[in-house]
Amino acid sequence: MSDCLFCKIIEGEIPSTMVYRDEQTYAFRDINPGAPTHILIVPTKHIDSVNFMINDDEPLIGHLFTVAKQIAAQEGLAEKGYRLVVNTNAEAGQTVFHIHLHLLGGRQLLKMG
Ligand code: 5GP
Ligand code: ZN
Repeated sequence: MSDCLFCKIIEGEIPSTMVYRDEQTYAFRDINPGAPTHILIVPTKHIDSVNFMINDDEPLIGHLFTVAKQIAAQEGLAEKGYRLVVNTNAEAGQTVFHIHLHLLGGRQLLKMG
């Protein structure tokens, strides 16, 4: 997916502030943070959105949550609280079509909906 922004970030073609990396996952700080801590956790495999997940992706997507839990603890958010969000398509506000988990915290977050 040569025209995918997050694939380019994963490959290091576009700079980012890394928070975590393993073989399956890359996490980096959002360029336009919506909270004091705003980190994006992405699979290194390109998947456009939740709509394009296949059953074999379940362990990979589950792993994103395990990584999110570890990062939340590192950022000092585990007890205070944090929010994990996955936007899908236009009405949810998805702008980058490489599946990603937003980790938000560090302030009181408003109720959603
Ligand atoms: P979405 O709206 O698709 O759920 O989230 C995309 C996120 O990517 C947005 O929060 C946006 O600020 C972030 N973003 C867009 N371009 C870049 C970039 O070049 N670098 C980083 N670090 N984040 C980006
Ligand atoms: Zn991609």
